[in-house]
Amino acid sequence: MVLWHHAYGRSVRRAPWGSMKAIFFDVDFTLIYPGPRFAAEGYRSFGERHGLSVDTDRFDDAVKAASQELEVDDDARYRPERFVRFGRRVIEEMGGRGPGLEACAREIYEEWAVCEHFALYEDVKPALRRLHARGLLLGLISNTHRCLDAFQSHFALHPFISGAVSSSTQGFMKPHPSIFETALSALGVAADEAMMVGDSLSHDVAGARQLGMGAVLLDRERTGRVVTSQPEVPVIASLADLPAVIAER
Ligand SMILES: [Mg+2]
Repeated sequence: MVLWHHAYGRSVRRAPWGSMKAIFFDVDFTLIYPGPRFAAEGYRSFGERHGLSVDTDRFDDAVKAASQELEVDDDARYRPERFVRFGRRVIEEMGGRGPGLEACAREIYEEWAVCEHFALYEDVKPALRRLHARGLLLGLISNTHRCLDAFQSHFALHPFISGAVSSSTQGFMKPHPSIFETALSALGVAADEAMMVGDSLSHDVAGARQLGMGAVLLDRERTGRVVTSQPEVPVIASLADLPAVIAER
């Protein structure tokens, strides 16, 4: 419900919940998670197609090591190479060596954009439906080359989402302020009227906070990550907890 108050001759729109008008969501590992294509056995198949043999037991450690490739440095422009390096690093850390490495890494990169390889977390639809029904604008901000329009169609999210910005089309990666600014203006809200929800401290939380947006860290694995320096950043384990957190803003 949106209330209109008249004070000192001007209308003041009161946000439905606290001061928030818009909630932005990260996509990967916030709304969706990869299926078997991107599990250990899937990477074994990627390798096999390019003549690379890998040790599937090393998959978890390989992904952990490769994640460093996705941290954004001073140059926050979107470059496919950054993501290609991620796939290459996973295969290498799993022991894959050979001339097929580059082509293999490129195939992994291309396949990551295919919605059919991903599933929606169970808590997504109920949370989006509830927030949308209460009058909040919902948006997506994603460091991705996946077409976010196709993504919304595939998972039937169009009824809830008012705007979506991907770094491959916008040009910059989270946490660069530019991609958040584009998203805010797409939904017509100010930074302090918006909140970012995501699983990455360095991309989602840090990016939003530097602009004065609210931020919520989604810690689905309950790793106990806490934002000690920013007590105003709530940590939730499920999107089911999001409405309560927003109500407190
Ligand atoms: Mg994410």
